[in-house]
Amino acid sequence: MTDNRTSAPVALRDTFGRNFPYLRLSVTDVCNFRCQYCLPNGYQCASKPSFLSTEEIRRVVDAFAAMGVHKIRLTGGEPTVRKDFTEIARLVSSHPKIAKTAFTTNGYRLRDHAREWRDAGLSAINVSVDSLRADRFHRITGHDRFSEVLEGVEAALDAGFRDVKVNVVLLRGVNDDELPDYLDWARRTPISIRFIELMQTGENLEYFRTYHASADTIKAPLEKAGWTRATRCVDAGPAQVYTHPDYAGTIGLIAPYSKDFCAGCNRLRVTSTGDLRLCLFGEQGIALRHLLQEDEQQPLLRALIQDQLAYKCSSHFLALGNTGITPHLASVGG
Ligand code: SAM
Ligand code: SF4
Repeated sequence: MTDNRTSAPVALRDTFGRNFPYLRLSVTDVCNFRCQYCLPNGYQCASKPSFLSTEEIRRVVDAFAAMGVHKIRLTGGEPTVRKDFTEIARLVSSHPKIAKTAFTTNGYRLRDHAREWRDAGLSAINVSVDSLRADRFHRITGHDRFSEVLEGVEAALDAGFRDVKVNVVLLRGVNDDELPDYLDWARRTPISIRFIELMQTGENLEYFRTYHASADTIKAPLEKAGWTRATRCVDAGPAQVYTHPDYAGTIGLIAPYSKDFCAGCNRLRVTSTGDLRLCLFGEQGIALRHLLQEDEQQPLLRALIQDQLAYKCSSHFLALGNTGITPHLASVGG
């Protein structure tokens, strides 16, 4: 590593010409839900984990912001189980180079905290709502909190979140008959409902084999109902977005098994214990934590991140059954 590289790092770009303006930062592995495809037995921990402190989080943000990242999503596990979540939200969103701070949540605290989190500077939110039927929601997540979560989505809109997305993992024979209900919601409400194909992870092979459904099963009825594919903007994520003139909301399809999914990859990840993950399904984490202890380490930290980008692969190779070192998405921050 040369002196001029450490003092003036270039923006994040990999060997395939992809840029990375977006960081997903996991703040905890812990989750209180037991989603069947993610943590069916609930959160298990062998020893007390030590998640990044607010100071360490600030240094992660400083380094990535200096390298051109301008959007950060806080995720987990369930990020809002952290008692200092509001403080984290405030510190990330007040960074002068971070234009947008988003978070992904199962929504269990949203009804009562949406305004506080909006005031802390968060502007975009993804809430997971895998079914619009209370009994199914209960069965999928292990929690009888459907009404609360739905009220949380309303509270987020009332609090002034302008970018509200609802994540729905598409599950064959479980919720794949609910498109009309979700469309009805989108007709009345300015939300973006995104159907995500179930992904295979290290621990859910049987579940994946039984319940994976292709996003194409949604695409055909959607197009038949007059929805059209919106043009993709330059720094858009992997969702295929559909709009309809009669609807307040939009529909997105996230199809990780589709051919060109990774070509549009624009994100890097840092786990809750400070490992850089180049891909959701990568083969290794790159420890950054030892370089998060002093502000003076920033040049070294940026150089390490820059060097590691050379190893980012063109694709996740999920279609070949590769799940890397990811037992479930709670472990890396989906
Ligand atoms: N706990 C929060 C939540 O559920 O929204 C944030 C973390 S969760 C890992 C992030 C997103 O990943 C959620 O929308 C969840 O439904 C999705 N997810 C988890 N496991 C998945 C899998 N195997 N395939 C597809 N999506 C998955
Ligand atoms: Fe928890 Fe989210 Fe995983 Fe569900 S998907 S178990 S809410 S981390």
